[in-house]
Amino acid sequence: MPDIEERYNQLVARLRETALLGSCGHLLGWDEQTNLPKKGAGHRAEQVALLSGLVHEKSTAPELGDMLSDLRNPEDIGGEESPQAAVVREARRQYDRAVKLPRRLVEELSRTETLSQQAWIEARKAKDFAQFLPWLEKVVALKREEADAIGSETGVKYDALLDDYEPGATTEQVQSVFGPLRDALVELVSAIRDSDKQPDISILTRSYPVDVQRQFSISAARAIGFDFDAGRLDVAAHPFCSGIGPGDCRITTRYDEHHFPGAFFGTLHEAGHGIYEQGLPAEHFGTALGHSASLGIHESQSRMWENLVGRSRAFWEHFYKPAQSAFPEALSDVSINDFYAAVNDVRPSWIRVEADEVTYNLHIMLRFELEQAIVSGDLSPADLPGVWNETFQNYFGMTPPDDALGCLQDIHWSAGLIGYFPTYALGNLYAAQFFEQAEADLGDLPEMFRKGEFAPLKSWLNEKIHQRGLQYRADRLVEIVTGKPLSAAPLLNYLHNKIDPLYGL
Ligand SMILES: [Zn+2]
Repeated sequence: MPDIEERYNQLVARLRETALLGSCGHLLGWDEQTNLPKKGAGHRAEQVALLSGLVHEKSTAPELGDMLSDLRNPEDIGGEESPQAAVVREARRQYDRAVKLPRRLVEELSRTETLSQQAWIEARKAKDFAQFLPWLEKVVALKREEADAIGSETGVKYDALLDDYEPGATTEQVQSVFGPLRDALVELVSAIRDSDKQPDISILTRSYPVDVQRQFSISAARAIGFDFDAGRLDVAAHPFCSGIGPGDCRITTRYDEHHFPGAFFGTLHEAGHGIYEQGLPAEHFGTALGHSASLGIHESQSRMWENLVGRSRAFWEHFYKPAQSAFPEALSDVSINDFYAAVNDVRPSWIRVEADEVTYNLHIMLRFELEQAIVSGDLSPADLPGVWNETFQNYFGMTPPDDALGCLQDIHWSAGLIGYFPTYALGNLYAAQFFEQAEADLGDLPEMFRKGEFAPLKSWLNEKIHQRGLQYRADRLVEIVTGKPLSAAPLLNYLHNKIDPLYGL
């Protein structure tokens, strides 16, 4: 019997080395999106392919499998819920996922996803689903094969894919929270549509000089706690956050002179992701304890700062005067009430990424239902546009005029990202439930925001969520932090409290 402690230390050293190698790839990825000259794309692809190959080799090495099997008994390393057991549990999960996939399937997936994304771009441009259909069929077939290879405890194919983004989550769990949320939101959206009280959103598309937007966004990101000595903000076509490693987190945004909310709330959103990355315990880099809990929990951090904080009345009671001085031309004749109403505008629209806090969740639920049906085989890809439009009509009371504004709008399925969508709405649900608990623990948060005090909330998130890494899976983390399982109630309460008065409901 090998010495357990020594084996554990070997495992940690190995995981750390693999994560270091992976983080070099992340840095190259960031550079590709922000700085890479066009002609460097080919060489970059080779660099990235080499690194991913090395990471894959390390992640599937038989020695790693041996370490994991020596450490398989949680009782040897502190018990089921100990930090060490979490490190082994998640390393095992990653290892199993990696070794269960035959090399042929991995290569086939990667090739198909690249070509399929090209086909999707063309099909979306041409508003022609038929052009994309053969590729979608191919991706779906491969993802079904992937799901079978990985398997799931529930026996539900979709769960094997969902697990990649939301470790341990199941379709049944997600459905039980999405169900009540969906019914309540469909009703709320229809009431908003019928309301004769609608904000004037044209004030948000006046002239907001880009360099001033940049300064203003940076000052807000700094105020909520993003550490610019441990991160930076750059411009990218598709905004993202990349936690390279301890002390180095890259966030990006994009500016449009005639659309204030895009860059501003986009920066708060990415800064929220960044604050999570910066709050992970540096000493555990490379293991589960230094890793975010799930994509949904990650999204809860970005959504909380973007929406529950950044779109709150109290936040603007602090930031509105500075905003008026920064953008006198756009805002000097606009009252805080009108501005607040405009940044909280809710209206049904075709495009998910442009959707507001309320309708966003319905966009997600639609995709969650359809992708489940596609993976289970209940829905054939050929029937997707019809079912999409019908469901859209049921949720939003309108039917997309073409597939570019319907089922062709997102890159995800063409890129093989099936099982990813629900994490966005889970993020909103987690955010509301965490925020409710933070208020119970910390007292009057709006009063703090009014004074520009964001540190108490940030420290609470650091302690309750960030510092724990992935010691607990998302559902357990929510229970530990809030004392109850995830439910739709906090999000619905939050939305009603904010939206009802704005729309006179
Ligand atoms: Zn996000």
